[in-house]
Amino acid sequence: MIKCIVCDAKYDLNDIIYTCNNCGSILEVLCEPDVSRDIFKCRKSTMWKYKEFMPVDPAKIVTLEEGGTPFCKCDKLGEKLGVELYVKVEGSNPTGSFKDRGMSVGITKAIELGVNTVGCASTGNTSASLAAYAARAGLRCIVLLPSGKVALGKLAQAMFHGAEVFSVRGNFDEALETITALALEGQLYLLNSVNPFRLEGQKSIGFEIVDDLGWKSPDRIILPVGNAGNISAIWKGVKEFHRAGFIEDLPMMTGIQAEGAAPIVRAIRENKEDIIPFENPETVATAIRIGAPVSAIKAIRAINESNGFAETVTDEEILSAQKLLARTEGIGVEPASAASIAGLIKLLENGEVDKNEQIVCVVTGHLLKDPNTAINACVEPVEVNANIEELSSIITRG
Ligand SMILES: *Cc1c(COP(=O)(O)O)cnc(C)c1O
Ligand SMILES: [Zn+2]
Repeated sequence: MIKCIVCDAKYDLNDIIYTCNNCGSILEVLCEPDVSRDIFKCRKSTMWKYKEFMPVDPAKIVTLEEGGTPFCKCDKLGEKLGVELYVKVEGSNPTGSFKDRGMSVGITKAIELGVNTVGCASTGNTSASLAAYAARAGLRCIVLLPSGKVALGKLAQAMFHGAEVFSVRGNFDEALETITALALEGQLYLLNSVNPFRLEGQKSIGFEIVDDLGWKSPDRIILPVGNAGNISAIWKGVKEFHRAGFIEDLPMMTGIQAEGAAPIVRAIRENKEDIIPFENPETVATAIRIGAPVSAIKAIRAINESNGFAETVTDEEILSAQKLLARTEGIGVEPASAASIAGLIKLLENGEVDKNEQIVCVVTGHLLKDPNTAINACVEPVEVNANIEELSSIITRG
């Protein structure tokens, strides 16, 4: 069943519907299987390990074996900061971001529904992922990208997997409005995270974190927040496992936004459930350069219900955390992902996070998604002759 999160109106799982016909709010899929966690034992480590919790036909699954991503204990960085730190490396998904989890379920649903065209607006990763999964399923794929604001790797993926890519004069929020209108006319099946089936896939990040910790919740999960689907999804996931009796405690959900695109942080600070959009969102972290997050209500509820927190970080803090993670732990992530680490550092400094907490930072996308930003943050290679004396004298100088 699909349910409105505000007025509780109910819809059939096979209705093609993105917002409530009754009140206009966003929707969620209800999913409460009656199973024991023993059934997960000995299954391959992909998100489909938890297939009973995925509201699609198991015979029709479209998968690239997404999920089952590394859960790296980061002792060096953790000791430096004074916390027990784990990093969930979502860049290890097939197209390099967590969006693959949502697309695997979303495209499976599209196949179930019998649609032939799918579409999305995207800051980049959603389009990269949709293009790949649509290709695998043999569906036509239309994507709208904000002109000039998509990282190079993501654009390459969307184009190369054969999506019909349009560069919109406008920002992400405007692109999303446009593609949503097309979807409502019935011209395509919308696979932005307003589609509640996307979040059903992404909730598996929450499943994996507590599974990896030996069926325990961490004290806190920290992640970047853009359109706010992922924080909502992870919270839904841990709550479902809690309700099923698989874990005893719940984590404090902690969302980090870029200073120039922080409507959710603002709403949390003002203790409101509605956001006021940022008209001209701006940040180096293009994946979270979003002014009017579609899943804001879900995210704000997740943060409040879990006794969590929301904080902003500057572009400078993001880029410095990105480098810190890459150089102390060998984990390369795109700028938006590093917002989780930058946020952790800031929350430790201002005392919001206690030393000794067990913390999971979700890093959402791979370093190579945005090669330009990475290269710009480094000094150029020194050009040398292929000569051992010359090279040796340079190296010994340090
Ligand atoms: C999509 C994305 C985000 C933001 O996730 P939301 O669900 O929109 O909040 C963060 N980081 C990366 C790398 C992403 O691709
Ligand atoms: Zn409603």
